[in-house]
Order: sequence, then structure tokens, then C-alpha cells
Amino acid sequence: AKAQGKARYQIFDTQMHHHAQQRLELDTDLRRALHREEFLLYYQPIISLATGRINGFEALLRWSHPQKGLISPGEFIPAAEETGLIIPIGLWVLKEACQQLKAWQNQALFKHPIKMSVNLSVKQFSQVNLIQNIDKIILQTQLNSSYLKLEITESAIMENPESATELLQQLRDREIQLSIDDFGTGYSSLSYLHRFPLHNLKIDRSFIHRISETRQNLEIIQAIITLAHHLNMTITAEGVETAEQLSLLRSLGCEEGQGYYFARPLEPNAAQALLLDNPHW
Ligand code: C2E
Ligand code: CA
Ligand code: CA
Ligand code: CA
Repeated sequence: AKAQGKARYQIFDTQMHHHAQQRLELDTDLRRALHREEFLLYYQPIISLATGRINGFEALLRWSHPQKGLISPGEFIPAAEETGLIIPIGLWVLKEACQQLKAWQNQALFKHPIKMSVNLSVKQFSQVNLIQNIDKIILQTQLNSSYLKLEITESAIMENPESATELLQQLRDREIQLSIDDFGTGYSSLSYLHRFPLHNLKIDRSFIHRISETRQNLEIIQAIITLAHHLNMTITAEGVETAEQLSLLRSLGCEEGQGYYFARPLEPNAAQALLLDNPHW
């Protein structure tokens, strides 16, 4: 049994070593990717359920790897978060997204103002220079900051509620819109979240997915929407995939929807074409 135990540890060690080595390679690759500008942004439209028109886009990061092709953020963001590389990557995302929106505004592709949503990671949110960096990007891109939306997860806020409140207030002072992302997947409740100066709540797609399964699921979503409205927050439903989900969400008074039913995340040119097309759902 002892020998067996030892063998097991050896396997475990080898696996650990392998894992560490993979992480190191990924880290080197990510640094090079940033340097060689291998990152790009896809844009997924966010639809006003009242008008059926595009309210804005969420910028979603992709890595165009020279050998492996297009890589999803789920495969490299956790590592970037661990090593701290998410800070320069996140700043690149923010600047690129602001530049893109500004370019679309300059081309006057749409009659009503549209917004750009950008994801902030936990590490970015706790970084001391965040506000200065955002100010710098706003200045450089000349984007009116009221068109920028930042998506923050519950865990980023709950890590340090006091400093989060202060930071959120500073962002709000700049008229930057604040969304809570993946709502319902964390531990916190709306009654706690309402202490923070947030504008918008994105209900996680796991809830939307189950909306028509049982009466109870519908009621949970209804309760979230009602409470959020009492707290002066608007609601965005993530992961809308069917016409049935859309009509249920409309009947519940949900303001916005995002999901494959409307459009997948699109390359910049395709997103621009969609804007020109001015679709109506
Ligand atoms: P998220 O912020 O919740 O973004 C929405 C994710 O859901 C996107 O995955 C999107 O492609 C996917 N999605 C949209 N509609 C549907 C639908 O109808 N059905 C299904 N099944 N999925 C849908 P993606 O692009 O792979 O991004 C995954 C996550 O990576 C994001 O989740 C976000 O947490 C993170 N992420 C993406 N870009 C960035 C970034 O620039 N910075 C940071 N910090 N995180 C990012
Ligand atoms: Ca998001
Ligand atoms: Ca989300
Ligand atoms: Ca998510």
C-alpha cells in the first residue's frame, strides 16, 4: 500500500509539473500575443426589448493564435488573471472597444446613441490605477464616457466592499454606466447589492435557459426583475436563444436581451454591417 501511495504521488507530481509547465508556456505565449497584437475583439449586440433595436454591444475578447487559430477567453483569461497579465490585456480591450465605438459614431452609422460594454476582471477592478487608466483612455479616444458601460462581477465587488463602493462612485461621477455581470451565479443577494451605485443587472444565462421549464423558474426571474426595478436598476437577460424566451422576458418587463437568438458575437466588420442594416426584433 505504501509503494502504491508513493507511485500515486509520483504521478501527481508529474501532473503538477506538467500543469506548471503548461501555465508557463501559456504565460510566455500571452506576453508575445500582446506584443504582436494577436488579440481582437468580437462584438455581440444588446437589444432593447421595448423597441427591438440595438442598444449597444458587448466587447468580447478573442486570441488569434498563429498556430491554434481563434481561442476563446475561457481558455486563457483565468491564466492571465493569475499572472497579472490581465491588467495590460484589459487595458488593451478597453482602449480598442472605446476606439471602435468612437469610429462608428464618427461614421454616423446609426441614428440613436449606442453603448459599448466592456468586461472588467476581478484583478483589474482591484488595481489602484484603474481610474487614472480609464481617464487616460477616455481622453485618448475622445469617447463621451456616458457611452461606456463596465461589466463587473459580484465577486469583484464582494472582495472589498468598501473600496468597491468608492471606486464605483468615482466611475459613476464620470457618467460611466455600471453593470453587474452574471447575476445569480454568486453568493450575494440583491438586498446587499443595492448598497452599490449600479445601473444595470445582467441575469446569467443559466436562469434564462431554464425560464420556461417550470412556473417557479419564471417566478424567480420575475422576482429579480421586480426587485431590481425597485432599486432603480435596469435588467439585461443574457443567453436569449429562443423566440419563446424573448416573449416571456418582454412580458416580464425586462429591458434588454443578448444572445444567439439575436446574434452571436461578431467580427468588427460584421457588427458594423449589422448596425447599418438596423435590424428590428
Ligand atoms: P460573459 O461576460 O458572461 O460574456 C457572455 C458570454 O456568453 C460570451 O462568451 C458569449 O459568446 C456567450 N453567449 C452570448 N450569447 C449566448 C447564448 O445565447 N448562448 C450561449 N450559450 N452563450 C452565449 P465568450 O465570448 O466565450 O466569453 C466568455 C467569458 O470570458 C465572458 O463571459 C467574460 O467573463 C470573459 N471575457 C470575455 N471578454 C473579456 C474581456 O475582455 N475581459 C475580461 N476580463 N473578461 C472577458
Ligand atoms: Ca460580460
Ligand atoms: Ca455575463
Ligand atoms: Ca458568464
